[in-house]
Amino acid sequence: MKSIKKRMSRCPSCGEKISIGENPKIGQYILCSICDEEVEIINLDPIVLDLIYVPDESGYAIDEFEFWDKDWKGM
Ligand SMILES: [Zn+2]
Repeated sequence: MKSIKKRMSRCPSCGEKISIGENPKIGQYILCSICDEEVEIINLDPIVLDLIYVPDESGYAIDEFEFWDKDWKGM
């Protein structure tokens, strides 16, 4: 019998440990069972997960970020 260890990694969104599949691949999407957030495998050894960047529908977030950046420099 093969002994299959369940791979675990920490969800970048909620910080809880979530189980990865038996054969993880870089770029694979994992759905966190705790916070229901979809995360991407960016490294295998050790397993590192990262949030998937989803562009805002309106692009509003980018404008807001630039505004904040200017504001910070002015301080
Ligand atoms: Zn999570």
